[in-house]
Amino acid sequence: MYDVVVVGAGPAGSAAARRCAGYGLKTLIVEEHATIGYPIQCAGLLSVAALEECGVSGDAVVREVSGASIISSMGSVLTFDAGVPKAYVVDRGVLDREMAQRAVEAGADIRLKTYACGISDGVLRTKGVRGTEEIRYRMLIAADGPRSPVSRMLGLARPPVHLSGVQAEVPYEMDGRHVEIYPDASPDFFGWAIPVEDGRARIGLCGTCDVPSRFAAFSAQFGPSCMHQVTGTIPLGQMPRTYGHRTLFIGDAAGLAKPTSGGGVYTGVRSGCHAADTAMECCGNDRFDDAALEGYESRWKKDFGRELDIGMRFFRIRPRVSPQHLDEVCRTLNTPGMKDIIVRYGDMDRPGTVLKHLLKNPAMFRVIYSIGRSEIGRIVN
Ligand SMILES: Cc1cc2nc3c(=O)[nH]c(=O)nc-3n(C[C@H](O)[C@H](O)[C@H](O)COP(=O)(O)OP(=O)(O)OC[C@H]3O[C@@H](n4cnc5c(N)ncnc54)[C@H](O)[C@@H]3O)c2cc1C
Repeated sequence: MYDVVVVGAGPAGSAAARRCAGYGLKTLIVEEHATIGYPIQCAGLLSVAALEECGVSGDAVVREVSGASIISSMGSVLTFDAGVPKAYVVDRGVLDREMAQRAVEAGADIRLKTYACGISDGVLRTKGVRGTEEIRYRMLIAADGPRSPVSRMLGLARPPVHLSGVQAEVPYEMDGRHVEIYPDASPDFFGWAIPVEDGRARIGLCGTCDVPSRFAAFSAQFGPSCMHQVTGTIPLGQMPRTYGHRTLFIGDAAGLAKPTSGGGVYTGVRSGCHAADTAMECCGNDRFDDAALEGYESRWKKDFGRELDIGMRFFRIRPRVSPQHLDEVCRTLNTPGMKDIIVRYGDMDRPGTVLKHLLKNPAMFRVIYSIGRSEIGRIVN
C-alpha cells in the first residue's frame, strides 16, 4: 500500500512526489510514457522564480532573457529590458527528466509506460509494461495534465476554457535577450517568438479557435524549415473543485495555468508542493474526507488564486481589445516612465501587480475609456 500515488510525471507531479517522499511518505509516480518530458508541449519560457521552484540544476537552460518586444500589426513596437535575467528559455525534456530524477532520489518509486485506467475504493488500476496491476493507495495526486483522465474517471467537472497551442522551431534572427510578443497573431490570446540557439526561434501561438489557420498566417513571415513542432492544450479557469474522492488535482489537471500567458509550470509546481503538504497532514491524521482535503484548495488559492482570478478577467476581455487598441497601448507605454513601471513591477508569475500600476496611471485613461472603462476596472478591483 502506498501513502501517495501521483499520476503523471510532469513538473507538477514530480514536484509533489519529491516533497511527499521527502516527508517520508511512501510515494509512487505512474507515467504513461516510456520517456519523461516527451512529447514536449511547451514553449519553455520560465521566469527565474519558476525555475527556482523546480529545484533543479541549470542543465535545462538554453538562454537567459532580460526583456521583451510587443509588436503590433499596425506598426508600433514596445521594447523593454530589465538589464538582468528575468526568464530562462529551457528544454522541457531535460527539465522534466531532472525533476523526476530528483523525486526518485528523494525516495519515490516510479513506473514508466504505465497508464492509470481505473479507480475504485482506494485502488488505482494501471496497464503497462508490467501488465494490468491494482495499486492500493491512501491518497491520490492527479498530475495527469490537460486531459486529466483521473478527473474523468471520478466524474469531476473540468475547467471551463481550453486553449489550443501550436509552435514550430524555425530559422529566425532575433535579439537573443528578448522574447517577441505578437498580440494580433491570435485575437483572443497572442503569438510569440522565443530565441533559442543563434539564428533559431520557437514561434507559436495559442487561441480558443481557428488555431491552425492563425498559425499558418503567422508563421508565413518566418523561415520555412521547421525542426521541431509542438501542439498542445492548456485548460484555464480551474476545475470548480480541485479535490475529492481522496484525490488532489494539481497543475494542468486542475486548470491552474496563468490565463494571461498560458504558463503553467510555476503554478503547477507550487500546487504540487501545496498538495504534498496536505497529503502529509491527511496521512498523519489518517483522515481523507473532503473536509481534510479542502486545506489543499485553501492553500493554493491563498498563494496564487487572486492572480488567476485577475488573469481570467483579463482573458475574458481580451477578444474585445482590437489591433487599434493594442497599437494605442504600445504607443502609450512607450515612454521611459511607463517602461520603468513595467520593469520595476513586472513579474511573469504574478502579473496582477504591474497591471494594477499601469491601469491606474493617468496616461492609460484614454485607452482604457476606448476599450471599456467598466471591463478594465473589473480586472484589478
Ligand atoms: C504550446 C504550449 C506552450 C506552452 N508554453 C509554456 C511556457 O512557455 N511556460 C510555461 O510555464 N508553461 C507553458 N505551457 C504550459 C505547460 O506546458 C503546462 O502548464 C505544464 O506542462 C503543466 O505541467 P503538469 O505537470 O501539470 O502537466 P504535464 O506537463 O502535462 O504532465 C502530465 C503528465 O501526466 C501523464 N499522464 C497523463 N495521463 C496519464 C495517465 N492516465 N496515466 C499515467 N500518466 C498520465 C502525461 O504523460 C504527462 O507526462 C505551454 C503549453 C502549450 C500547449
